[in-house]
Amino acid sequence: MPGSGGKLPGGRNYNSGITGFIQSGFAIMKKQRVAVFDFACCEGCQLQLLNMDEKLLDLLAVVDIVEWREGMSEHGAAYDIALIEGSITRPEDEERIRRIREQAPVLIELGACASIGGVNKIKNASDLDEVKSCVYGSSAGLPQFATYQTKAIHEVVQVEYTIHGCPIDLVEFTKVMTSIVIGTKPDIPSYPVCVECKMRGNPCRYDYNELCLGVITRAGCNAPCPSAGFWCFGCRGLVDDPNVNAARGMMKEYNITLESLVDKIALFNTR
Ligand code: SF4
Ligand code: SF4
Ligand code: SF4
Repeated sequence: MPGSGGKLPGGRNYNSGITGFIQSGFAIMKKQRVAVFDFACCEGCQLQLLNMDEKLLDLLAVVDIVEWREGMSEHGAAYDIALIEGSITRPEDEERIRRIREQAPVLIELGACASIGGVNKIKNASDLDEVKSCVYGSSAGLPQFATYQTKAIHEVVQVEYTIHGCPIDLVEFTKVMTSIVIGTKPDIPSYPVCVECKMRGNPCRYDYNELCLGVITRAGCNAPCPSAGFWCFGCRGLVDDPNVNAARGMMKEYNITLESLVDKIALFNTR
């Protein structure tokens, strides 16, 4: 596993990944038991976990996965860490997440659907009759759950950690899991994507007359979208203390209307 390296107490070297931690000689007292659960989502974040390939084996050196519908079929085991993907979109989802919470010493929101409601929350600000008519036709009935307001996981139960993004970033996921396993606090950035974008030397999308949400979006992804010539669409949610004045200044300088900003924010950050 790639790692930037560093020193552990006592001067021993380590790599920043889970494998490096094991190689450092620190004993793992007890393997953490991890369970993965999904609610309303595309399951893309779980797919990201499968995309870890051999790095998933590194993770399995320090945790036991005891429940994972997409990756394995065993059910009903006790767990120490619950990874939750997806949004709460029905009353019965609330009951289920509460049951999971009762059994989970540590609960982690995984990805935008879980952490901010993501695209599932667009419904909250939509005319449901119009949506129903568009999707199912005008003669269809409105499903009972359609009037339920979509929620992020932390809007229903307490969560210990959040891994942002749509989908999650595997480097960040590995860092967070490593921190939890070794008992330190994961470092989740509270500055905007612009910081990482500038560090990568990217031209700013505003100079191409595009509205980019990197100004107000939480960093941690290393700005892949502006680095690929695309604007940031805010999938990691708003940064804790967005610099609204800077955003206003940018909008004024580039003649961007409030309506176009609101439209773009709505994709991932509808309340
Ligand atoms: S955050 Fe994105 S990739 Fe992950 S489950 Fe939701 S829609 Fe899918
Ligand atoms: S392209 Fe977007 S993320 Fe990059 S500096 Fe400009 S506004 Fe910020
Ligand atoms: S640049 Fe923006 S849209 Fe792209 S991954 Fe990062 S937060 Fe998400």
